[in-house]
Amino acid sequence: MNDDVALHPSTVAIHAGRGPRAPGAPLNPPLTLASSFHGGSYAREQGAPAWEAFEEAVGALDGGRSVSFASGIGASTAIIETLPAGAKVVGPAAGYAWTRGLLRERADSGRITLTSVDTSDTEATLEACEDADLLWLESPSNPMIEIAELDRICAALRDRDVLVAVDSSFATPLLQRPLALGADFSMHSATKFIGGHSDLLLGVVTTREDHLDAKLRHVRAQLGATPGAIESYLALRGLRTLPLRLDAAQRTALELAERLSAHPAVGKVHYPGLPGDPGHERARRFMDGFGAMLSIELPAGADFAESVCRGVRVFTHAKSLGGIESLIDRRARYTGSSAPESLLRLSIGGEHVTDLWNDLDNALTKEAE
Ligand SMILES: *Cc1c(COP(=O)(O)O)cnc(C)c1O
Repeated sequence: MNDDVALHPSTVAIHAGRGPRAPGAPLNPPLTLASSFHGGSYAREQGAPAWEAFEEAVGALDGGRSVSFASGIGASTAIIETLPAGAKVVGPAAGYAWTRGLLRERADSGRITLTSVDTSDTEATLEACEDADLLWLESPSNPMIEIAELDRICAALRDRDVLVAVDSSFATPLLQRPLALGADFSMHSATKFIGGHSDLLLGVVTTREDHLDAKLRHVRAQLGATPGAIESYLALRGLRTLPLRLDAAQRTALELAERLSAHPAVGKVHYPGLPGDPGHERARRFMDGFGAMLSIELPAGADFAESVCRGVRVFTHAKSLGGIESLIDRRARYTGSSAPESLLRLSIGGEHVTDLWNDLDNALTKEAE
């Protein structure tokens, strides 16, 4: 696949991981349902063809070697498991709740020590990394869509002995390549945009160093956090259309973010594509797009936010994100706990922008009356 180096990432997403172009060979790697293989290899330990094709494709995009896991959180747990006992981890004060739980519970049990920091504050983050073994970043972050300065943080830590792991799920390998910026682990919940159809759970981590790759593979075998063959097959199929889905979804997301900014029922709109957003300049510097996730604050409060979720007809009121169908869900802000819980997170899919806008406008206006 060395030929892919010169190709645009959207082409790589379509071409990588297909196997040799031999006469009679299938265009897609076939779905192989087998736990054991002639000659002694066993799927949990050595891997299976369906995962390998998916890993080859993500690795080609992420710029390293990928290891896939049963879920995004399985992938995150595996990264933490590669650390020695007592390792000092710096993690985000805000971000995906199960990741923060993973770090906090490992700290509570004495497995690691944990310092939480606002990772959108570069100075504070670098200061907290004194003597750290691993910095965990999530960017863009859930649910506030904040951008950590991946380029500056990774550059500043390059000469220090601090590993950097980036949960890049909201960006996908098409919009952001953490390893090229200097990170050590690029992690994705492939359940979300990569799979793209809300029909599977999968996670993947890409590294560039053999010893990290070997550790991840060992932890996967030891934890048994192995992906399913069907899930891997579907995720690779999802990856093939990611360039098209993401391109359309982020154009719609920007349009909706602009219109929502002017809506009387809406307070702050969090979307890095808006020029006034705190993450805008950062995203422009090292991302190839602003993504399809946004969140909005509703000053009228939590009950109003709930009623908006119940009022939509084109958006689906459901958890998760990154699918072809647009989702809306109320999230806690994770900042001051006394703040009214009035944040709605929107995952933009492939529906027509006019239908999505009319749906939101209707729910926001009708409920406000
Ligand atoms: C969903 C999500 C995860 C966890 O992924 P699962 O596949 O649900 O285990 C981790 N990080 C982010 C940013 C997510 O959105």
